[in-house]
Amino acid sequence: MTEPHDNSPRVGLVIVSHSRLLAEGVAELAREMGGPGVQIATAGGMDGPGSVLGTDALRVMKAIESLYSEAGVLVLMDLGSAVMSAELALDLLPPDHRENVLLCSAPLVEGAVVAAVQARFGTPLRQVAAEACGALMAKQGQLGGAEALQTPPSAGIRGSPEMTLRFVVLNHQGLHARPAARLMQAMSRFSAGLRLRNLTTQSQEVDARSINAVMTLGVQQGHEVEFIANGEDGGAALEALRLLAESHFGDAPGGAGAGMPLQGRTPLHEAPRSGWLTGTLISPGIAIGPASVLWQEDETALEEDDVGLPSQEWDRLQQALQRVRTEVLETRAALALRADHQTAEIFDAHLLVLEDAELLRWVYEHIHQGAGGAFSVWKDAVERVARRYESLPDEYLRSRIADIQDVGRQVLLALRGDARAAPVEQRAGILAALDFAPSEIARLDAKRVQGLCAARGAASSHAAILARSLGIPAVFGLGEELQQIREGETLLVDATAARVCLLPDEALLAEYEDRARVELKTRQLAHQLRAKAALTRDGHRVEVAANIGQVAEARAAVEAGAEGVGLFRTEFLFFQRASAPDEDEQYEAYREAARALEGRPLIIRTLDVGGDKPLPYLDAGQEANPFLGVRGLRFCLVNRELFSAQLRAIARAAVDAPIRVMFPMVATREEWLEARALWEEAAQSFPAARHVEVGLMIEIPSAVLLVQHLAAEASFFSLGTNDLTQYLFAAERGNERLAHLSDALHPALLQMVARVTEEAHARGRWVGLCGELAGDALAVPLLVGLGVDELSMSVPAIASVKQALRACHAGEARVLARQALSCGSAAEVRRLLAGEAFGEILPGMRH
Ligand code: PEP
Ligand code: MG
Repeated sequence: MTEPHDNSPRVGLVIVSHSRLLAEGVAELAREMGGPGVQIATAGGMDGPGSVLGTDALRVMKAIESLYSEAGVLVLMDLGSAVMSAELALDLLPPDHRENVLLCSAPLVEGAVVAAVQARFGTPLRQVAAEACGALMAKQGQLGGAEALQTPPSAGIRGSPEMTLRFVVLNHQGLHARPAARLMQAMSRFSAGLRLRNLTTQSQEVDARSINAVMTLGVQQGHEVEFIANGEDGGAALEALRLLAESHFGDAPGGAGAGMPLQGRTPLHEAPRSGWLTGTLISPGIAIGPASVLWQEDETALEEDDVGLPSQEWDRLQQALQRVRTEVLETRAALALRADHQTAEIFDAHLLVLEDAELLRWVYEHIHQGAGGAFSVWKDAVERVARRYESLPDEYLRSRIADIQDVGRQVLLALRGDARAAPVEQRAGILAALDFAPSEIARLDAKRVQGLCAARGAASSHAAILARSLGIPAVFGLGEELQQIREGETLLVDATAARVCLLPDEALLAEYEDRARVELKTRQLAHQLRAKAALTRDGHRVEVAANIGQVAEARAAVEAGAEGVGLFRTEFLFFQRASAPDEDEQYEAYREAARALEGRPLIIRTLDVGGDKPLPYLDAGQEANPFLGVRGLRFCLVNRELFSAQLRAIARAAVDAPIRVMFPMVATREEWLEARALWEEAAQSFPAARHVEVGLMIEIPSAVLLVQHLAAEASFFSLGTNDLTQYLFAAERGNERLAHLSDALHPALLQMVARVTEEAHARGRWVGLCGELAGDALAVPLLVGLGVDELSMSVPAIASVKQALRACHAGEARVLARQALSCGSAAEVRRLLAGEAFGEILPGMRH
């Protein structure tokens, strides 16, 4: 049973009733269940003033004709004369239409609902009628009035191996009508034979594609069910089912229609305390442990005690600032050892707040004007700065408010001379907070803390970046309901699925403990094999490279198994300083990075500033829309001296190292040729650098469409899917409210990838991909199938991507890519990939 394409006809439904209101009400209910694709017409009541009860054959005939198609029409009626009117209407129809119309004895309401669900999936007319006639079975089964329906299981592909999937149904009302309809819908994409049984009631197997059969199994919350699939796409169907079950068959998590059994209600917020909460994925993985909650007394709400003379207050503040400065420097140093330098530099921003001359002048003046003591004036000053940030149009800059508040709060604590009841560095288990301050994440002990969850917070915050770099499973933005959890209670963090379960039950815990073990084993294996080349099962090679922003990361990349650097974001050499590094300084950096790679290739991307990466000392001028402004290569082409110094530094370093050059944000062939000419000019003084391969990033849709022209002079391309997604969907990449438009797995984006690889390969050029998508192990078979030759990603992703490549078969991946290109949404592509991942599971294996 496959949901037909929108233009293929489906069975239409006509609802005949004595009452116009009743007919319309039933139609409304059926539409809700069948979706907008199902055609439903009504013939209720009679013409006349007011509401005239009765039925009219002509009206029934017109209703049938209004939606007639070769798929046929099913007519459902209420009582008495409704049947006669329908029979008469049949006589009034043209003879060739008549045989495609069935009058159905099904109960009106239940029959219409079931018929709509079946019609939706292109079920033939007679089968829709048969299902509608059995529509009372569910109710009868529930009330004990009839034998449970025993629909013979659908044939599927006989003789093909069977796979099974077991799980406990967690929906509040079990597999009631709505979840059962969603089950039908999800299965419509697959051709596999599918049966179902209720293990808890030890029922017989029934056809899982019959809504009546599913509903009559009486599956209630907590019941264990088993799906049995056979046929070519049986594995994929079961995986889709698993995902559906995990999402509670579409019932809202934690809502009345879903969730785990309620384990003790609490008066707090009058809401159930157990069940799933969904949020934003920050760092993937599974964690189970006792909650360590951080929502306690808000220090900033405290008032100041005794206020001394202004000079004493100012001294007090100086001491507090000094203490916090020392703490920040310690945190920064400790983090540089645990994470990378770039991450540690987040705390440079904190130091800048503590030393901000304007802020300190304001505080000094207000303390000396008698506006308050050190505590209250500092608190006001910090709020003032935070408010200024709040009004900025840039999402990324706005999310820096957390840094200012964080450091501001630390000064207040220092002024009071006390600290939190249990400092974050002594915490263990799963930390739960309203919002994490970056300093809290930096100070925590990554060996003791298993997971992080927060009621608020965005993926681009510094706290999120830190959590990712520490590799701790984390989900933010879970909502205020998170506060229902109390110290020591069990939390289950399924960060990969961006959700957290409060008070999970035994069965769920056991399931997740298994999953966590498998995940750990996979990670360990990937780590052991990280230095080995990653060939696909059929011997196809894709290069795995690293994205770096600092020279030190080149060493880390080699240690992590990188076969080179596919993207050196050189702009990071230009940040956190007062002026640009000169040619010599850059030369040293590039040479150092190349040395660390010990002969592996190094792709140096020229300066990519502007947009979300402004360079304060090189003012690009005020722009209403910096993401569409003078950024990337455009910026370099108008800052020639700066650009030439960088190109010379690269050419010098390339004399004795396998260095390649790459330009960012190329929109036209003219820009590309201009940049290339400047490179050639710079390289002229270093003849040995003339062999250097020069390529460009494809991150603006115009470059995709120009690829055949660009290929004439380019040695290679690298797809910057972060920006390409942003510009393709006109959705700013850092804006958390547009996250749904920033999915690089969208088929529209995949079409762009396919076009680039096809055109480039036809002209003998290779194609890399260095956006975040490259580090997503799930996407690996798809990218291989689309013909990408090199994947470049952040260092922590390298081992797992190599492992995903080893599991992949390039021939099969090409088929998968073709399927993905014909999908209509990113969600469809994700389901397809989830099915692919499931394909590795052995037939007959139980879950
Ligand atoms: C990209 O846009 O995909 C890319 C890799 O560049 P950046 O993230 O540095 O803009
Ligand atoms: Mg980019």
